[in-house]
Amino acid sequence: MKTLFPRRVLRVGADLRAAWHARRWPAARPEVGPYLLASVFTAAAFAQAPLVIAPRGASGYLPEHTLAAKAQAHALGADYLEQDLVLTRDDVPVVLHDIYLDTVSDVAKKFPGRQRADARFYVLDFTLAEVKQLRVSERFNVKTGRPVYPQRYDSQAFPSSFQIATLEEELQLIQALNRSTGRAVGIYPEIKQPKWHRAQGHDLSKAVLPILSRYGYATKEDACFLQCFELAEVRRLRGELGWRGRLVMLIDSKAKGEDGTEHNYLCSSMGLKELAAMVDGIGPTIGRIVSWPAPGAAASITELVKLAHAERLVVHPYTVRRDDLPKNCPSVEALHAALFRDAGVDGVFTDFSDVTAAWVRQNGGR
Ligand code: CA
Repeated sequence: MKTLFPRRVLRVGADLRAAWHARRWPAARPEVGPYLLASVFTAAAFAQAPLVIAPRGASGYLPEHTLAAKAQAHALGADYLEQDLVLTRDDVPVVLHDIYLDTVSDVAKKFPGRQRADARFYVLDFTLAEVKQLRVSERFNVKTGRPVYPQRYDSQAFPSSFQIATLEEELQLIQALNRSTGRAVGIYPEIKQPKWHRAQGHDLSKAVLPILSRYGYATKEDACFLQCFELAEVRRLRGELGWRGRLVMLIDSKAKGEDGTEHNYLCSSMGLKELAAMVDGIGPTIGRIVSWPAPGAAASITELVKLAHAERLVVHPYTVRRDDLPKNCPSVEALHAALFRDAGVDGVFTDFSDVTAAWVRQNGGR
C-alpha cells in the first residue's frame, strides 16, 4: 500500500524548534505573520520549544486510546500522539495500553468464559473481529467496577460507542487531521511487552514496523518516536529489525523491569552512554527527575536530565496529570515549572494537552 500522504507532510527536520514554528505558523500562510513575529520574541525563553506529547490521547477528557481522544488531543495542541500497541490473535497491532481488555471494555460481559486462569482477558486471545465488537469505556478497577479517575469521562452514564482502534486506523486519522488542519502532529508508538508477546509466539515489533514504514515513518526526519521499556527489544529494533527512525528508551520507577531491564543502571552516566549509541532519547517517570520531599518544600531536581543531555539524548518524562499530581506537588503549574524551567526537559507526556500547551505558551515557549 502507498503512503496516504507524501512524506514531506510529515517531515519535521532535525531542528525541532524550527519544526515547531513551522507546524503552527506555516510560511505559506502570510496572514499569520504577526503571530510568527510574536513567537520569535517569546520563544527565546527556551533553547527549543518543549514538546507536548499526549499519551493515550486527551485522556483527561475522553476514554483513553479511542480515536475521539486522539482527535481531541490533536485539537488541543499536542505535538505528538501516543499509540500503545498490542497484538490480536490474528497479529493485528491495536492501540491499547495493556495486554488485557478487561479494564477498559465490556469484554467480560460480551465474551464470558474467555478469560485465562488468572481471570484476565488477553487481547492476544481475541481476533480483530472480536475485539471490534467491544465497547470501550473510561478505565475502571476490574474488582470494584469503579472508574480509576472519577472526574473524567463518565462512561457509566454516557457509554456512547467507543471502539478499540487498529494502528492503521489511528495513523489514517492523524494524517487526515494533519491535512485538514495544516498541522503536522507526530506519532509516538510504543512496543508493549515484546518479550511476553514473543513467549506467546507473536512478534509485535515485526508486525508494527512495516505499517509505520508504509505510512511514512521510517527515518529520523519523520515525525515519529518509537518507544519501548525493554532494553533487549530496543537493541533488537536498532539491530536485527533495522529501525532507522527515532527511538526512545522508556525508564520505569522500578529498579528492574520484569523483562530484566536494569532501569536504575540506565539512569547512570554509564548506562546513558550505552543507551546513546542506540537511542535518541529517554522517557523516564517524572519521579526520576523531580520530587517534593515534604509539603511546602521546594522541588528537588535530580541530575538525570543533565546527564542525558550530556549524551545528546532528549528527555520526555511521563505523565503530567492535573488530577493525579506527584506526592506533595502543590499544583500542576508547579509541576510544569519544575519540569520545563528547573529540570529543562525536552517534552512531557501529559493527559491534559491544553493545560501543558498553555503553560508553555505563557512561559515563553509558544
Ligand atoms: Ca505508553
